[in-house]
Amino acid sequence: MNLVLLGPPGAGKGTQAMRLSKAFSLRHMSSGDVLRAERKGGTELGDRVAEYMDSGKLVPDEIIVEVILAQLKDPGDAAGFLLDGFPRTKGQAESLDKAMEAAGCQIDLALSLKVPDNEIIDRITGRRICPGCDAVYHIKTLPPARDGVCDKDGITLIQREDDSEEVVMKRLAAYYAQTEPLEAYYRRKELLGVSDGTKSVDDVFTDLVGMVRERLGNAVS
Ligand code: AMP
Repeated sequence: MNLVLLGPPGAGKGTQAMRLSKAFSLRHMSSGDVLRAERKGGTELGDRVAEYMDSGKLVPDEIIVEVILAQLKDPGDAAGFLLDGFPRTKGQAESLDKAMEAAGCQIDLALSLKVPDNEIIDRITGRRICPGCDAVYHIKTLPPARDGVCDKDGITLIQREDDSEEVVMKRLAAYYAQTEPLEAYYRRKELLGVSDGTKSVDDVFTDLVGMVRERLGNAVS
């Protein structure tokens, strides 16, 4: 079972991807995390993508496609993969389909999380992360016990550079222009499942699990 998670930044893709990959033994791959790890490691690729990421633009297709497809070549012992944040353009989706076909497999389901813009902006601009352990907090909905400090390791929390309101607006614009059309792409292939991402984390998870099970023909209990 190979899944794709679609949705604007801050829709909860990362949270749901972690739970879904555990529930169905899938390999979780977040394109944003892959790129952030490259930057943290100070690699040449990290340097090439920094400017795009910090300004809320998408990294060019030829860069991200090469990075993600290279990682997909090694399936490990997972029952499939779950892509979180990739594909984000029609070109990426087509490259992914071609690579899947060449490998004799396919995307089985694309799950889209819907959240209105005002809620996205609240969620992202309030997000704080620990630069030490990558724990994620929210100033209103998930504050740390001590203001501005990570509960786990006491390190001062920071805001991701691309989580400022100005950059979020650009990331949303990129989403509507380039990524939202992928819903139609997967709908045409009868692979699209849509979930209301404003529901609680548990309720969204239940919806998504239901859609995956339906696709699996109730093979997973
Ligand atoms: P994310 O954490 O998924 O919101 O990704 C953070 C940033 O990484 C995005 O704003 C883009 O600059 C870049 N990025 C991640 N995934 C992709 C992708 N599939 N295509 C192009 N850029 C991407």
